[in-house]
Amino acid sequence: MRNIVKRACRQCKRILKGTTCPVCKTSNITTSFQGTIVIFDVNSDVAKKLGVTAPGKYAIKV
Ligand SMILES: [Zn+2]
Repeated sequence: MRNIVKRACRQCKRILKGTTCPVCKTSNITTSFQGTIVIFDVNSDVAKKLGVTAPGKYAIKV
């Protein structure tokens, strides 16, 4: 199993496959983040707490 380096955007916490955030258009990303969470409902409490505005996979702490 290949060890794929995951990255997260420092601004929106989105988990990225590339080296820039497609939402923020920034390369302000990190490989050191803690935990991942998948947000389906942006109106949920956890989404609001994280400041998530679009469904997707996010880091809990960056
Ligand atoms: Zn972002």
